[in-house]
Amino acid sequence: MTNSAQHVIGGKAVSSDRSDALEIRNPATGTVIGSVAMSSVELADDAVAAAASACPAWSDTPIGDRVQVLFRYKTLLEENISELADIVVQEHGKTKAEAIGSVRRGIDCVEFACGAPALIMGRTLPQIAVSTSFCRTEDEGGVGIDSQVDRVPLGVCVGITPFNFPVMVPMWMWPMAIACGNTFVLKPSEHDPFSTMREIELAHDAGMPAGVLNLVHGGPDVANRLITHDDVTAVSFVGSTKVGEHIYKTASAAGKRVQCMCGAKNHSIIMPDANREAAVDAILGSAFGNTGQRCLAGSVVVCVGDSADWIVRGLIERARNIKVCSGSEENADMGPLVNDAAKQRVLHYIDKGIADGAELVLDGRDADMPSTGCFVGPTIFDRAEPEMSIVREEIFGPVLSIVRRPSLEDAVDAVNRSEYGNMAVIFTDSGHAARKFQRTVQAGMLGVNVGVPAPMAAFPFAGWKRSFFGDLHANGEDGMRFYTKSRVMVTRWI
Ligand code: NAD
Repeated sequence: MTNSAQHVIGGKAVSSDRSDALEIRNPATGTVIGSVAMSSVELADDAVAAAASACPAWSDTPIGDRVQVLFRYKTLLEENISELADIVVQEHGKTKAEAIGSVRRGIDCVEFACGAPALIMGRTLPQIAVSTSFCRTEDEGGVGIDSQVDRVPLGVCVGITPFNFPVMVPMWMWPMAIACGNTFVLKPSEHDPFSTMREIELAHDAGMPAGVLNLVHGGPDVANRLITHDDVTAVSFVGSTKVGEHIYKTASAAGKRVQCMCGAKNHSIIMPDANREAAVDAILGSAFGNTGQRCLAGSVVVCVGDSADWIVRGLIERARNIKVCSGSEENADMGPLVNDAAKQRVLHYIDKGIADGAELVLDGRDADMPSTGCFVGPTIFDRAEPEMSIVREEIFGPVLSIVRRPSLEDAVDAVNRSEYGNMAVIFTDSGHAARKFQRTVQAGMLGVNVGVPAPMAAFPFAGWKRSFFGDLHANGEDGMRFYTKSRVMVTRWI
């Protein structure tokens, strides 16, 4: 298949007005599968104009009618889940099972947004005061005053999304935004545009009115135009910390409401009393699932006491047997990295880990894997330390570092030294240890005896520290609050 990714503006597929195009390759084979022509900033302006012109009618559409589009969309997603997952496998490199799982989590967000009428409902407090001026008779004792608060849409919202979940992450944003009565312009990652394009096409097949949901492909120039555009009111971003911090500062300075879900370096603490088999299994899934390209990847394990002895042994034994191959192969456990630049970054970090003195106990460069494509096998460093770059920095690949500490307090201290705070988990049989961890660790998403504590769509998703810039998180009630503003009314009938 060779494709050319199109923009979707005002309900129509639009070709790019620029001649430069980025080639999209299947990272498992290196084969070119299509290209994406970047939008110009003028085309991005057209998308905002389409969203702005669709906004009054859409925000006036009864919310029950608005969510009907999402109900139909959910059915279409269920019918097309395998096809969508195949596109993700082809352009991103996930295994088919991972791709299906990621689309499924996106569908969860659509389902949650279908419930927007219950979430967005206002609140009233009758008889909040009594007014005695202008009342007809003194006997009446005054006129009652009522008060209410409504939640109303913001206007045109923008979403800027990363490559690693090209179907799911956009669905953290636009379904709730449009259910709440906003219109939307999405700029997905330029590295895997076809899955997101199909996601948006299906939304139009479900009856999305023209201009309510627009898509422009592009790089930083387009993103920067969108986040400062006069007609845009809110910006949601998911991606790296470096870019997220820039987006947060720039868009806030331009007066936008902003939420930026950013990079991570997640730690898992293993207590000596943990269930060994379950801990090894969960750590493997967390560190090497999605080839480590996940903001919830548990890429550092902090072993307390003698847990290091069995965990390191268990991880090496199991990680050696992970089948590394194209995600489209039936028995694939782990696919390639997204592109060659990502592979080179991971190889660079392996060199850094060795140079910094960590002990390379499983070398992913020697794994049994295809010789072409962007593959690196599961890699494990033992005896790493918090100041090493393999522990401090986000590698975004299948590299797991093990830090050894004598006590839970020392382990939590090692976790809290990270500049990031997306997630942290503990494996233990002790309620006391789990509670202490929960109360002292600095991260926004915590887990006990689970490898990837990904909140389901009804709960807010975001981290702390440099993993998040903003106030309201993605998904859950936070999502509805982000995409609406409150309006208070005080009423007196004379
Ligand atoms: P990225 O920051 O490189 O790109 C994200 C988006 O920003 C893309 O759409 C890109 O085109 C745009 N962009 C890039 N440079 C820009 C610039 N200078 N100005 C304006 N826009 C710019 O991220 P990525 O490599 O696509 O994705 C991986 C990152 O995303 C990782 O750091 C990962 O942890 C993070 N992530 C975080 C979460 C979360 O919930 N915290 C979820 C998924 C991914």
